[in-house]
Amino acid sequence: MARHIGVSCKLCRRENLKLFLKGDRCYTDKCSFERRAYPPGQHGQGQRREKYSDYRVQLREKQKVKRIYGLLEKQFRNYYYRSERQKGIVGANLLIMLERRLDNVVYRMGFASSRNQARQMIRHNHFRVNDRKVNIPSYLVKQGDIVQVKEASQKNSKILEAMETVMRRGIPDWITLEPEKFRGTVTSLPNREGLTMPINEQLIVELYSK
Ligand code: SF4
Repeated sequence: MARHIGVSCKLCRRENLKLFLKGDRCYTDKCSFERRAYPPGQHGQGQRREKYSDYRVQLREKQKVKRIYGLLEKQFRNYYYRSERQKGIVGANLLIMLERRLDNVVYRMGFASSRNQARQMIRHNHFRVNDRKVNIPSYLVKQGDIVQVKEASQKNSKILEAMETVMRRGIPDWITLEPEKFRGTVTSLPNREGLTMPINEQLIVELYSK
């Protein structure tokens, strides 16, 4: 499936926000956003960010969230439509559904250093959910689900490296991690208050409601 294969750091600079797309590097002084916090491109340094129209602000917010979770436009729009059909607040429903994706959960548990890496590893069958093979990154976890690194993959250097550095970003309170057993439990579903990325989901609702 088509994905963004350009330089991830440019996406952070475009969105004027650290999106944490490159694993542990994002927490070091090698982070491009820390060194060049202006839009990419030949004229990036001269671009002013304050003149955005309402539409552009809404569009950028949608692009930002889409890029954080590494989704394509069509996938993202489908999540939006699904969140509209659920009870509750549409924007919050959308973010909670994105958080429940297995690739995000594997990343949050610290078994991968980025969502992109988590997606690849899930497709390569490194994980089990409730002791069953699941190789679909978009699988939505439920309360009580146990995500475990497959026994044969517990020596995988990428997984071990990611587990070493997870404490730098912290584990959300809806997940209980048992690193010695290479597994984590979804103890509750995430809620909006627990999602700390600076996202204004109402802007996305306004964009899609036009
Ligand atoms: Fe973004 Fe910095 Fe990570 Fe690059 S290193 S993806 S700029 S947060």
